[in-house]
Amino acid sequence: MPVNDPALLKIVEARLLNKMVCRKCGALNPPGATKCRRCRSRDLRPKKKRVGVKK
Ligand SMILES: [Zn+2]
Repeated sequence: MPVNDPALLKIVEARLLNKMVCRKCGALNPPGATKCRRCRSRDLRPKKKRVGVKK
C-alpha cells in the first residue's frame, strides 16, 4: 500500500527507523528494546532505512 500523505509518511518513516533489529536472528523488536523478544540476544541494532524517497 503506497503512502502518499507527506505527514503520514514521516510517521511511518520514523517508526521504521525506531525499530530494533536483532543481529542474531533478524527479528524486529520494538523501539527501546534491550533484548530480542525472539532469541533474547542483546545484540540489537537500530534499523536504518530510508523509505518513500524513490522517484
Ligand atoms: Zn534475536
